[in-house]
Amino acid sequence: MKDPKTLQEAIVYFADPDNCLEYMAAHRWPNGVVCPTCGRKDVTFLKTQRKWQCKSAHAKRQFTAKVGTVFEDSPLGLEKWLPAVWLVCNAKNGISSYEIARSLGVTQKTAWFMLHRIRTAMRNGSLLKMGGNDRGPVEVDETFVGGKTKNMHRERRLRMQTAEKTYQKTIVMGMLDRESRQVRASVIPNVKRETLQNAILSQIEGGSTVYTDGYQGYDNLAAQEYIHATVSHVDEYVRGQVHTQGIENFWSLLKRTLSGTYVAVEPFHLDRYVDEQVFRYNNRATKDNPLTDADRFAALLMQVADKRLTYAELTGKTDARPF
Ligand SMILES: [Zn+2]
Repeated sequence: MKDPKTLQEAIVYFADPDNCLEYMAAHRWPNGVVCPTCGRKDVTFLKTQRKWQCKSAHAKRQFTAKVGTVFEDSPLGLEKWLPAVWLVCNAKNGISSYEIARSLGVTQKTAWFMLHRIRTAMRNGSLLKMGGNDRGPVEVDETFVGGKTKNMHRERRLRMQTAEKTYQKTIVMGMLDRESRQVRASVIPNVKRETLQNAILSQIEGGSTVYTDGYQGYDNLAAQEYIHATVSHVDEYVRGQVHTQGIENFWSLLKRTLSGTYVAVEPFHLDRYVDEQVFRYNNRATKDNPLTDADRFAALLMQVADKRLTYAELTGKTDARPF
């Protein structure tokens, strides 16, 4: 049976545990099965147990395809996980835990945990900086999500900054590389110059062209060896190439998903919803890159390993991670 191309085919295909295992192993270990503990390729497949055994004599020498991935320690089998991954990465405006629960026959609570684990896999772990060889340009912007300042214009938000603590709002910072059409976004603790600059320094190659609006938090970028151009929302919305409409378009997609499908997102979970939207945006079909649902699914399965969502992270007991 060939790889599934549609949701219907995926459900049929992944109902067979052997298909699940074969597909998962091929995407997780594209160069052959590797022991997650010691990295050796010298492993034996134990067919009846659907496990591998490492030839080295260390603890945990037997491992399943789920070990070391976001699916580890889950009692659910891949026949639930893989259709769930398919649904999440191909739902244009996100998918609720209720819908996952109905589609897969699990409880809503289980579906909620599944969704957060899948979002963890969607997180971009690229160590490469944006801008890169062609030096950008990269659009940079921030937006406020949730709470009483939802959709509020920045000038008004700034006036309210003294009252910041009383308003439940979360700030998301985003960057769009105009050449690669790839977005990165993350929750940031505040809009201070230092916060914005550090995020830019960590994500954008020095010497790149950076477009922002006229906010004073960005006014020192030229001194950091960026070619900085600003667009004023009031006077000149678009000055030729200098605009931030790409990242603003991403904000509207994010907000549409958050207000439509995910009505009540707790601020400390927001990062994972942002990761989800970023994954979908960066893997969307374009004229130059006509990705299909099956391509998006394969791309996500290739990044499920070496990521874990701990209970502490899920319950907000650890600090946020700006970029
Ligand atoms: Zn080993």
